[in-house]
Amino acid sequence: MRIFCVANQKGGVGKTTTTVNLAAGLAKIGQRVLIVDLDPQGNATMGSGVDKRALPLTVYDVLLESASIAEAKQHSEQVGYDVLGANRELAGAEVDLVGLERRDRRLKGALEAVSDQYDFVLIDCPPSLSLLTLNGLCSAHGVLVPMQCEYFALEGLSDLVNTIKQVHANLNPDLQLIGLLRVMFDPRITLQQQVSDQLKTHFADKVFNTVIPRNVRLAEAPSYGLPGVVFDPASKGALAFIDFAREMVERVQQPAPAVPA
Ligand code: ADP
Ligand code: MG
Repeated sequence: MRIFCVANQKGGVGKTTTTVNLAAGLAKIGQRVLIVDLDPQGNATMGSGVDKRALPLTVYDVLLESASIAEAKQHSEQVGYDVLGANRELAGAEVDLVGLERRDRRLKGALEAVSDQYDFVLIDCPPSLSLLTLNGLCSAHGVLVPMQCEYFALEGLSDLVNTIKQVHANLNPDLQLIGLLRVMFDPRITLQQQVSDQLKTHFADKVFNTVIPRNVRLAEAPSYGLPGVVFDPASKGALAFIDFAREMVERVQQPAPAVPA
């Protein structure tokens, strides 16, 4: 079982879209997948066809160790993967966890109990470097960073890269920056091409080969409670995410690089 955080401390950059579509793409090519929704907005939950308002148990109960993942997860037949859902209750976890032991290791412990049930766990992180995100980073083997190729995207990236390095050094020696995923890409925009070139110069093979185009079907799909890959499998966005799922499977089959993060 390989565990990946989809993280970027900015909101609206495509984290949730990446999480649900990569999950659906991986499921389509036969992988067993669990999404852990760590964002109190619950967008990955709703976007996987699971009603966040009707959940008896959520990731909140798992973080507080009052439920296991086996008890709290939902299987979404339409999308072909499992979801450990979230809703607004999760916003309180930050405060509830503060005084507790192993407060940054709660998710890691819970995931160990399901390690033979999944090939991939994808953790959709909130847009902050909070205790919730830290639980994600402490559980994961790698971080996937979706980003738009805009000028300010590069600026925020160094904070995230530093956080990953710190967590790697102090809390989770397994953690690696797996890669940067260019999303909402429009090749006609010169600035996007330039930023994309800069990314490749600075981050080399940490930039995924697959590029996710800006595609209206990916944006429409959440209102139907589905990932774009399921909502319109023939759309350009869906096909790109299937390619990305294949690229991820290839990456995890390669040996880990000697130099971390
Ligand atoms: P985050 O989880 O980082 O806040 P989202 O995945 O929710 O970001 O994406 C923000 C918005 O952009 C959403 O409305 C989503 O539907 C839209 N979006 C994301 N990726 C694409 C894309 N490739 N093409 C078009 N719209 C996209
Ligand atoms: Mg989101």
